Amino acid sequence: MLDRNRHSFRIRLQGMRLAPLGSPLVPALANESIEPHQRTPNNTGRIGPSPWHRFAYRGSAAPPDTGYVFRRTDLGGFEIPATVESVAHCSYATTLMRTGVMLSTVEHLLSALRGCGVDNAYVEVDNLEVPIMDGSAEAFAEMIESAGLVDQPTARRVLLVREKVSAVSGNRSISIEPADAYEIDCVIDFPHPLIGVQHRSVTLGNGSFAREIASARTFGFIEEVEALRRANLIRGGSLDNAIVLTRDGMLNETGLRWSDEFVRHKILDIIGDLALLGMPLLGRVKAERSGHLLHAALMASLLRNRAAWEIVDLPASIGARAPALA
Ligand SMILES: [Zn+2]
Repeated sequence: MLDRNRHSFRIRLQGMRLAPLGSPLVPALANESIEPHQRTPNNTGRIGPSPWHRFAYRGSAAPPDTGYVFRRTDLGGFEIPATVESVAHCSYATTLMRTGVMLSTVEHLLSALRGCGVDNAYVEVDNLEVPIMDGSAEAFAEMIESAGLVDQPTARRVLLVREKVSAVSGNRSISIEPADAYEIDCVIDFPHPLIGVQHRSVTLGNGSFAREIASARTFGFIEEVEALRRANLIRGGSLDNAIVLTRDGMLNETGLRWSDEFVRHKILDIIGDLALLGMPLLGRVKAERSGHLLHAALMASLLRNRAAWEIVDLPASIGARAPALA
C-alpha cells in the first residue's frame, strides 16, 4: 500500500510466442473463465510513462504451463517465479524472493493477470518493487488489455478444490471450499464512518474483474501513513496511491469510486495473492477481515493437504461439475 515509487520503473511482459499463426486473438477482458485454452499476452502492448511514474510495459507470450515468472532486468533477467514458495513476507504488501533477490508489491499486478484471464506471462521489472500506480489494478488491467491475449494450444489447467480448507487468526479468517466457479465472498469490518461492515461476492469471469474490482484502490489510515513516512517507508504523493482515511472522513478530494470500494479492494488483494497458486481456482473463497498474512497461511495449508485439491485440465473437468465454466 501507499507510495513506494521513488524510482523509475520499467515493466514488460515477454516470452516465447508459441501460439500457432492464425490463432484467434481474443479480447483480454471478456469471457476469460469460460475459455478452455490457456492464454498469454499477445506480443507487444505498451503504456507509459504515466504522470506519476516513468513506467512501461510490453507484452508477448510465455509457453503453456509457465504461469507467471518475474524477471529482474536490472539483475540480468534474474527470474522469480510467482509461486507460494517464493513468498518472503507479506505485511503491508506481498514480497517475493528467490536466493536473496526480492520483488515487492506484486499483488495488484498478479490480481490483474489472474482477473483478466492470463495464464502464462513473463513480467519484466527493472526494480525491486512493482509500482503502486493509483493503488488499484486498473492500469495493469488496461495494459493487459492493450497487449491483447492469444489462445494457446493447451488446455487450461485449474486447481479444483475438493475439501474445505481454512486459516484463522483471532476474528480473522479465510477459507476455500468446493464450487463450480472461482468465487470470492468477502466481509470487512472497520470502525470508520466510510467503511463499517462491507460484504461483497464476485464470481470471476465474463469481465467481472475489470468491471467490479480492478479500479478499487488500497486504503490506509492517516496514522499509518504518518508512521510509514516517519519510518521512511513512503515518501510523498500518498494521496495519488491510496485512499487515505482520517478519523471521520478521507483526505482525497476525488471521493470514492464506489461506496464499497474498500471491500472491492480486499477482493482484489485476495485474487492477487491466490494467483501465487499458479492457476485459476475452481472453488469458493470466503474471507472475513483477512489480509496478506492469512492469505499466505491459507495457500500453505491448502497445498499441504493433498486430499483437498487436484489439478485438472478444464475441458475434462467441466460438464455437470462446473456448469459456470462450461
Ligand atoms: Zn492491495
